[in-house]
Amino acid sequence: MKNRRPKILMIYTGGTIGMVENPETHALEPFDFTHLLDNVPKLKMLDYEIGFHQFRHPIDSSSMNPHYWDDIVRIISENYVDYDGFVVLHGTDTMAYTASALSFMLENLSKPVIITGSQLPIGEVRTDGEENLITALQIAAARDADGRQTVREVAILFENYLWRGNRSTKHSADNFDAYRSYNYPELAKIGLEIIFNREALWKGPVADAPLNPHYNMDNAVMFLDLFPGLSETVVNHVLSIPDLKGLVLKTYGAGNAPGDKWFLDAMKAAVDRGLVIINITQCANGGVDPDRYVSGLDLEKTGVVSGGDLTSEAAITKLMYLFGRNMKASEVKHYMQCNLCGEMS
Ligand code: ASP
Repeated sequence: MKNRRPKILMIYTGGTIGMVENPETHALEPFDFTHLLDNVPKLKMLDYEIGFHQFRHPIDSSSMNPHYWDDIVRIISENYVDYDGFVVLHGTDTMAYTASALSFMLENLSKPVIITGSQLPIGEVRTDGEENLITALQIAAARDADGRQTVREVAILFENYLWRGNRSTKHSADNFDAYRSYNYPELAKIGLEIIFNREALWKGPVADAPLNPHYNMDNAVMFLDLFPGLSETVVNHVLSIPDLKGLVLKTYGAGNAPGDKWFLDAMKAAVDRGLVIINITQCANGGVDPDRYVSGLDLEKTGVVSGGDLTSEAAITKLMYLFGRNMKASEVKHYMQCNLCGEMS
C-alpha cells in the first residue's frame, strides 16, 4: 500500500456531530450523512479514497447497544481487506464503551479504527466536528516508513489527543476536550503536527494473524457502585438477580470495601454460587491493589477478582465479551486478569 492513496471507510452511527436542531423543541436530533458531508467541503482536499457507510437510522449514542456493536464489527470485517483504515463517527456519551467493546470484538486488529465525534454539531459555526473528523481521517491514513499503518488498534480522537479506546473515559459534558485516559499516555498529540507516541502504540497481532471478529456480547452483567450507607437489602437484591453472570464492583481507592461481616459474607456466597465479581476503583486514576489495606485483602479473600486499572467501560465490556464467548466462570476470571489488547497495565 506504500505508493497508493489511502483508502478509508467512514462509518456514521450518529451523535452530535451529525445532528440538527428540531425547529419545534430546539433539541438536537440525529440527521443524515449527506448533511454532514456537505458541511465539510475540506474533505475533498484530502488525497484519500473515502468510502461511506451510515446506520439506517443514525442514533444518539445513549441508545447504543450490543446489536449496534455487532453491526459495526460486521461492517469493518466485511470491508477489512479493501480498506486501509476505518473512521467511526459516534456520539460522545457512550464512545468509550463502544471503543472498549470493539477493541475486544476485533481480535487481531492490525489496522486503525479511529472513533470520533464532536460536542457541537458540524453545521454550527464554532463546531469542533470538522477538525476532529479531518484529523481522524489523517490518523487512519498514517503509515510508517515500511508502509504499515501507524495505528493498529481502536482509538479515540478528540481535540488535541488520540487515546487508546479501551483506556478512555468521557470526562467533560461541555468541553471540546471531552476525553481522557487516566491510566495510559496519549497515543498521539495533535498540534501543528500529529506527533505519535510510538512507545505507547499497540504493536498489533503477531505477523499475518487474520482479523477474528467476535459477536454476541453477553449483557448478563452490571455495575454496583459502593457508597457509605449502601444497604444489605440492596446488596443482596443485586447479587441474587436471576441469570446475572458478572458484576463490576466499583470500590473505594485502591480497591477497598466495607469490612462488615454481612457484606463480605454476601460477596463470598455470590462468588461461590458462580457469579464473577470484578473489583475496580471508583477513582479516575490508579487501580486496585488488594494488598495495600486489610479492607482490600478481606474483599479479595471472598473470591472477588481484581480488575487492576481497568476503566469502568473496559471492565463491563470485557465481561460481556468473555461471557459472549461462552467461557466458564473460571476462564472469565482468568482472562479478566490478563491484558488482551492493551486495556490493563
Ligand atoms: N448525546 C450525544 C450522543 O452521545 C452527545 C454527543 O454526541 O456528544 O450521541
